Amino acid sequence: MKNVCSFCGRGEKEVRLLISGLSGQICDDCARQAYQIVQDNLKDTSKTAKTGKSDDEVAKLKVPKPKEIKEYLDQYVIGQDDAKRYLSVAVYNHYKRLQQPIDEDGVEIEKSNIIMVGSTGTGKTLLARTIAKLLDVPFTIVDATVFTEAGYVGEDVESILTRLLQVADYNVEAAQRGIVFIDEIDKIARKADNPSITRDVSGEGVQQGLLKLLEGTIVNVPPKGGRKHPDQDYIHVDTRNILFICGGAFDGIERKIAQRLNTHVVGYNSVTNVRKIDKNDLMQYIVPQDLKSFGLIPEIIGRLPVLTHLNPLDREALEKILIEPKNSIIRQYKKLFEMDGVEVTFDKEALEALVDKAVEYKLGARGLRSIVESVMMDAMYDLPSKKTKKFKVTADYVEKQLAKSYLQKLEA
Ligand code: ADP
Repeated sequence: MKNVCSFCGRGEKEVRLLISGLSGQICDDCARQAYQIVQDNLKDTSKTAKTGKSDDEVAKLKVPKPKEIKEYLDQYVIGQDDAKRYLSVAVYNHYKRLQQPIDEDGVEIEKSNIIMVGSTGTGKTLLARTIAKLLDVPFTIVDATVFTEAGYVGEDVESILTRLLQVADYNVEAAQRGIVFIDEIDKIARKADNPSITRDVSGEGVQQGLLKLLEGTIVNVPPKGGRKHPDQDYIHVDTRNILFICGGAFDGIERKIAQRLNTHVVGYNSVTNVRKIDKNDLMQYIVPQDLKSFGLIPEIIGRLPVLTHLNPLDREALEKILIEPKNSIIRQYKKLFEMDGVEVTFDKEALEALVDKAVEYKLGARGLRSIVESVMMDAMYDLPSKKTKKFKVTADYVEKQLAKSYLQKLEA
């Protein structure tokens, strides 16, 4: 064995110290450099353990300011200003938290999972989906009603993470900074009349199961979903940095809010407040305590610190939803026809007639799409094979088409 450093190749005389190993030597300079490399790497991995990604990736995740997030949401979601502001701030803080350096002052920012309360079809899912699109992070929607306590027929709560992994193409790091939207969270509320001796398979048990996910833990996830199985290989997913957004209609929660407000209005100070309460829109006064009265367990409520509500959509909002969002229903249909070289226009009165129907069906914004679909059905069938270049949808046409499709359904 020649007496040279195996790293830099310098001989014994050229260095101050040469340390011999089993099959080589290292000089003092190279040893010092190697130590530095080890230090740097250790720093990196401790960061990775915390955020689930390397420094580079953290820096790459460009988080827009709350105002920018809201402006983006405005392009796709009509109204719901309160919810948008809450969401923007919560999401901003959440991703800022991922980027906070680990060391220093010991202040650790806690996770800001969100709960949105509002009737069906008011835009809860749309808000969550739009935010995920803006941030370009994996996003999945799950329905809380499919979960049951482990050991019962149904899905384990861990399957939420299986879906997130699937949308992230099994990239665990990406999944670990994703967003999960849990819909119908109100459906797993504890039933008040459920006697405590029987097991509440779909209610409290599921809430307990969700707790650890929401809070942040390492979960063993079956890669293909379904029930856990002892022989299966699991993927370990850290949920600490996954943002959970829950949504629910919480039907009847207004009554709980009213009850609480009523009990509060007894007293001297409250007289001034009574007048201010808008009885037609009680949802705006919602506080975490109301969720507890509804049947969510306090531990769950504690892990969903950001509570916001969505307003019911009025006629004006419905009309805006038809035309204003970037991918509004009307724009989508116009585009469809445009591909066939046909320019479609909608009269103001036609739009009003469409909204009338949606209000009549009481389906909120969800109904708009199916209404427009049945109105445009014939045109979509006929126009591509005709020479028509312009097509105008009037109120009369809307009425006629809707009456026709209704009759067809009756005959069917
Ligand atoms: P939910 O509150 O039940 O989650 P969604 O977000 O799924 O409701 O809304 C259903 C559909 O209705 C959406 O795909 C969207 O097209 C439309 N919609 C609902 N609310 C709004 C809104 N505020 N702005 C624009 N579109 C909306």
